[in-house]
Amino acid sequence: TKTPAISDAAIAAAIGRELGRQQDQIELIASENIVSRDVLAAQGSVLTNKYAEGYPGKRYYGGCEFVDEVEDIARDRLKQLFGAGFVNVQPHSGAQANQAVFLALLNPGDKIMGLSLAHGGHLTHGSPVTMSGKWFEVVSYEVEEDSHLIDMAKVREKALAERPKLIVAGASAYPRQIDFAAFRAIADEVGAWLMVDMAHYAGLIAAGEYPDPIPHAHVTTSTTHKTLRGPRGGIILTNDEALAKKLNSAVFPGNQGGPLMHVIAAKAVAFGEALRPDFKDYARQVIANARALADTLTEGGVGIVSGGTDCHMVLCDLRPLGVTGKTAEIALERAGLTCNKNAIPFDPEKPFVTSGIRLGSSAGTTRGFGEAEFRQIGAMILRVLRALADNADGDAETEAATRAEVKALCDRFPIYAS
Ligand code: PLP
Repeated sequence: TKTPAISDAAIAAAIGRELGRQQDQIELIASENIVSRDVLAAQGSVLTNKYAEGYPGKRYYGGCEFVDEVEDIARDRLKQLFGAGFVNVQPHSGAQANQAVFLALLNPGDKIMGLSLAHGGHLTHGSPVTMSGKWFEVVSYEVEEDSHLIDMAKVREKALAERPKLIVAGASAYPRQIDFAAFRAIADEVGAWLMVDMAHYAGLIAAGEYPDPIPHAHVTTSTTHKTLRGPRGGIILTNDEALAKKLNSAVFPGNQGGPLMHVIAAKAVAFGEALRPDFKDYARQVIANARALADTLTEGGVGIVSGGTDCHMVLCDLRPLGVTGKTAEIALERAGLTCNKNAIPFDPEKPFVTSGIRLGSSAGTTRGFGEAEFRQIGAMILRVLRALADNADGDAETEAATRAEVKALCDRFPIYAS
């Protein structure tokens, strides 16, 4: 066990075990990534001690001159990264960024329209268990049963019939490109706000490898910790100055208290990294790797939702192999491959079982895996899942052999070494 330099033995030991887990297993959760040491250091800095309610130059606390510098740098870099006129880097998370937008633009009871959770949307886009579903009237659009694509003509039809006040474009499990211009045309036609939640795709968008929503959306939200490869957190971007003022008030004091300045420093570091030319190479490799993985799994008989991917995400339909998402996730974890079960569109299984798993290439690409390694990962996944199909408890020998192969691959591409 590796032990970090923390004198609290119980926490140091748990963090050490988590570090070992990250070093020795292959991270395929599509919403995760592996941040740089600089991001870690900024987030672990003394900035955590500082209260800074308000915004740079207009704080409710003294002693903010240096955290003002940090937040200004974060904002400038974020504007540059996405070509946005106005940004807010304070949301503590993606969910809170979305809440702040709702608070700024909607009243309780207003109607919102997002991609259904069962078809790849996020909880905060109107699921009944979240604030978005409890406080607003929700209508959802879906993907097509045959193509698994969003049919923009059907989105338009629904928007015209329902007249939502806000339309959400963006997803947690949609592997294809989203037509943001078409969404904006529909929003304009029905008099709705268009909010794009680009959380999953943000890093690819920053690199120019996925369609850019910023020119089309009234407001764009994101997390900073997925393909963008920063600390856990949220951001909001817009080109509309009047809207920016409302959004700032909605974040603070509307929805949050003091900003997490240590996290904002880490966001600034990550934005700086994403502005470097090598981040474009990273984003291109992320997509090439996801495609190599999807191709390998397709050849092995796995159904790939929408037939492939345009991003970091591969949504697998495991029904052809005769295993569920739930049992697959557990068996793959035993073999050192971490992913999450995920509903596929029109999934006959319950949400806690599912017919699918969602895989992502962002973290593996960060540690240096290329297409050859992702084909190897695909072969390992197939081996484990075929053994699982033959034996509901999984095959211990196959899983142990795979775990050894995973370890050897991870040792060739170490993270946080020394
Ligand atoms: N929006 C989308 C599209 C997401 O996929 C997620 C996270 O999975 C979120 C928002 C929420 O982000 P957070 O977990 O930081 O609240």
